[in-house]
Amino acid sequence: MITRREALKTVALTAGALTLVPSLLRADTAGAAKLTYPYKVPDLGYGYDALEPYIDTMTMQLHHDKHHAAYVSNLNKALETADPKFQQMSLEELLVGLDTLPENIRTAVRNNAGGHYNHSFLWLLLQKNESGKPTGDLADAIDKDLGGFAAFQAKLEEAGGKVFGSGWAWLVAENGKLAIVSTPNQDCPITKKQTPIFGVDVWEHAYYLKHQNRRPEYLKAYWNVINWDFCNTRFKGAVTA
Ligand code: MN
Repeated sequence: MITRREALKTVALTAGALTLVPSLLRADTAGAAKLTYPYKVPDLGYGYDALEPYIDTMTMQLHHDKHHAAYVSNLNKALETADPKFQQMSLEELLVGLDTLPENIRTAVRNNAGGHYNHSFLWLLLQKNESGKPTGDLADAIDKDLGGFAAFQAKLEEAGGKVFGSGWAWLVAENGKLAIVSTPNQDCPITKKQTPIFGVDVWEHAYYLKHQNRRPEYLKAYWNVINWDFCNTRFKGAVTA
């Protein structure tokens, strides 16, 4: 398990553009992701049933133990035989520097480092919080940049609904401002120097057991499982970096 001190050092080492990317890690190490090779699936930090009835137990179990684990295993596999210098890069460095990677590992890293980052972020983002609302500076910025929480919710649900096939919808900070974006597959906003503040996984594996084809219903239920304090911390990290 990575300590807080090591996590901060990781962030300090990632100079330049990477200072825009606050570490995934939080002060308590429960759920902390290991951000260097060989990669490891972080603990969920809460029970598989903690988000019921909004996200069901079996979905959480499969999502964390099988889907996330597959990204981690495939990322390690891709790096295993690569030049050791790529093993020494952090997860964030790999994602920001995708264009600099050799072609024979680039697609595998894009998909699986993205999958590892996105899901490590997701487990930290989720917490049962019925009818919760954004907090602190983030709440003010949502009012200012996106026209308020209700408008943000509507835009985010629209973006999530429009993703064709598999992908994510995100609230990101870019140049000190908030924006709603979507990414296909496991592409990660940090590759475009955007800091994820909030995200929703719209791969069918994230909702199909409970909501089947009703993605909009899943997007509505999702508002009850967001740890807005985590989002506010991410936002503050992004705008003060
Ligand atoms: Mn997923």
